[in-house]
Amino acid sequence: MAASAKLPEFKYHPNPLGTGSIELSEQTCEACGSARGYLYTGAIYGKHDLERICPWCIADGTAHEKFGAEFTDAGAIGDYGAWERVREEIVQEIAFRTPGFSGWQQERWFTHCADAAEFLGPMGRKELENAGPEAVAVVKQESGMQDEEWVQYFQALDRNDGPTAYLFRCRHCGVVGGYSDCH
Ligand SMILES: [Zn+2]
Ligand SMILES: [Zn+2]
Repeated sequence: MAASAKLPEFKYHPNPLGTGSIELSEQTCEACGSARGYLYTGAIYGKHDLERICPWCIADGTAHEKFGAEFTDAGAIGDYGAWERVREEIVQEIAFRTPGFSGWQQERWFTHCADAAEFLGPMGRKELENAGPEAVAVVKQESGMQDEEWVQYFQALDRNDGPTAYLFRCRHCGVVGGYSDCH
């Protein structure tokens, strides 16, 4: 019953069930005390050691207001200046009110066209190939690898067991961006 409740919409993370950042759970949320059928699985930053936060308490800012919780490091939105800078309100919407994800290293959030991009999910070789040659090329370029080194790395890319790629798409021009990391 609870699990059929409609999830809140996240502009920058449109399919958090598909990316694995939200999953079915019967456990209670530490922010609202309710078991609403879903919990967040990604990174949670802040002074409190939180483990169980529901998507509603992310979406309406409760988890941030109550505990100072952040779901993506603010500086990593735009990769500390490597990608485009975006307005503070966009940074806050992602850091405070959008489900993040869980990388092997500090998660980074792709930005483009003066906005943050939408997160498409963690990807292995298979998922990247399905996303198309542009997605593969973006991750290859960001890795800085070439030739045999890249071929081996690409073969090893895995959604659940690093190295893993993280793909985003610009909400305005549709360009894909992202990066990969490993243990
Ligand atoms: Zn909650
Ligand atoms: Zn763009």
